[in-house]
Amino acid sequence: MSEMHLKDALDTLKTTGVRITPQRHAILEYLIQSMIHPTADDIYKALCDKFPNMSVATVYNNLRVFREVGLVKELTYGDAASRFDFVTGDHYHMICECCGKIVDFHYPGLNEVEQFASQVTGFEVNSHRLEVYGTCPDCLTAGAKKVE
Ligand SMILES: [Zn+2]
Ligand SMILES: [Zn+2]
Repeated sequence: MSEMHLKDALDTLKTTGVRITPQRHAILEYLIQSMIHPTADDIYKALCDKFPNMSVATVYNNLRVFREVGLVKELTYGDAASRFDFVTGDHYHMICECCGKIVDFHYPGLNEVEQFASQVTGFEVNSHRLEVYGTCPDCLTAGAKKVE
């Protein structure tokens, strides 16, 4: 499944005329495989052994290129570093308040909320964003161990 995503992503880059460098290939691959919605720093740390000349700024610039062609979404959370999400259609985020992990979930019902919001406000709706906060199973387990 992730191989399909990577192939589609590379096709998108080709049709938009973005050059596919080994670094871009590796960053995309990492984004698709990692389910943690990494920051530019996470990606840099994961790939810097493979690309010793790469800097965090290079990673960030490549992510911006991907964002401009619509392959990734940048998720900004106040002053914390942006996290990057490979775009796989409408989905929502469950966020761990303990470790910051973000897990995707799908819930189709919110398109009705868009229609309702548009009706009551007269706005034309472009998008919406839903985030649910809590404690992830890993942190729950770690917390339970501490109490013992
Ligand atoms: Zn957690
Ligand atoms: Zn996501």
